[in-house]
Amino acid sequence: MFKLPEIPTSIFSKMSKLSIENEALNLSQGFPDFDVSPQLIELIASVSKGNVHQYSPMPGLPDLLEETSRLVHQSYGRVLNPQTEILITAGATQGIFTTIQALVSPGDEVLILDPSYDCYGMPIVLSQGVPIRIPLNKVFLPDWELIRASITDKTRLIITNNPHNPSGRIWTHEDMEQLTLLLDENKNLYHLSDEVYEHITFDQPHLSANLYLGLHEKTIIVSSFGKSFHITGWKIGYVVAPKKIMNELKKVHQYLVFTVNSLGQHVLSKYLKTQNVQELGAFYKEKRDLFRSGLQNSKFNLLPCEGTYFQLAAYDQISDESDEVFCENLVAEYKLAAIPISVFSAHNETQKIVRFCFAKENKTLVKATTLLCKI
Ligand code: PMP
Ligand code: GLN
Repeated sequence: MFKLPEIPTSIFSKMSKLSIENEALNLSQGFPDFDVSPQLIELIASVSKGNVHQYSPMPGLPDLLEETSRLVHQSYGRVLNPQTEILITAGATQGIFTTIQALVSPGDEVLILDPSYDCYGMPIVLSQGVPIRIPLNKVFLPDWELIRASITDKTRLIITNNPHNPSGRIWTHEDMEQLTLLLDENKNLYHLSDEVYEHITFDQPHLSANLYLGLHEKTIIVSSFGKSFHITGWKIGYVVAPKKIMNELKKVHQYLVFTVNSLGQHVLSKYLKTQNVQELGAFYKEKRDLFRSGLQNSKFNLLPCEGTYFQLAAYDQISDESDEVFCENLVAEYKLAAIPISVFSAHNETQKIVRFCFAKENKTLVKATTLLCKI
């Protein structure tokens, strides 16, 4: 009678709740703990006095569509038609759901690369598609042989996430070329590119699907203003896709939400004119470096972090517990909340690795590393 299997509470809700109950530092769910820009607050106040409170046009406010196309052009040199190739969504989550709903029919297979963010699987099941979960390799990059071997005549979509949550790895040019080849070889295969952390990379630039002409025709790119402007609670993002696919996405969008909240769109269309997203990488790099250097003398073994605001740490020198138990004990005994990464994989295989979010004030990061060094 009901459509979805038994689904446990999201790990983000679970760990944030435990964090509050234990009065702990919350480095689990990914969100900044610092204030948003005062300029944004002033804009909300001034813009809200205007005529901005009724429905926006279905695909998005024209000004915001224009500004978004300018942002994509400035970031990647791609020229988009704001009317036909961009859709404003209620966060990346809705962009992902909308894409899957529009493209996946009963029996279609969708490739997901594990560990993977939690909002891909269930929308596929709701579309009566079949999630095919393929592990990334040991260093959290795609295993192209395994991906190729998993393609069948039912494979409809591959979902990628670069920069990658939870690992913080970013894809190489060779990975992007392999992906282009894969789409070329498989005529029925489309690509959903989750790039919500696109502006948060440190030592190498992010290789967006926007940069690869050979990907454009079959790729849907999902972005999030929440990550780029420290406003995760606003839940506004956008999707870029070629007109033919976008027409299909809009059909779903108009019955799912019809249009996204107007105040946020008006404010962002003005705010975007004043922002330089190129600075975001340096902003978070300082935090990454502070966090990593604070843990240098701890028993945690830090994995490479090239992008996102997440740092993976192996704890096998500290404990044999599963990562879920380790996180439960960490929050109860040391008053610090983290995320076990086994929950991002189909078979929950534990690797004794946890994820810390470093999108925090420097003083929070210093407190956190001091606590973690005591373990
Ligand atoms: N994809 C990934 C990889 C994420 O980490 C998140 C985090 N929230 C999302 C999608 C969803 O983004 P939004 O909050 O804009 O819906
Ligand atoms: N994307 C955030 C993370 O990975 C969580 C968002 C959510 O709570 N659903 O931590």
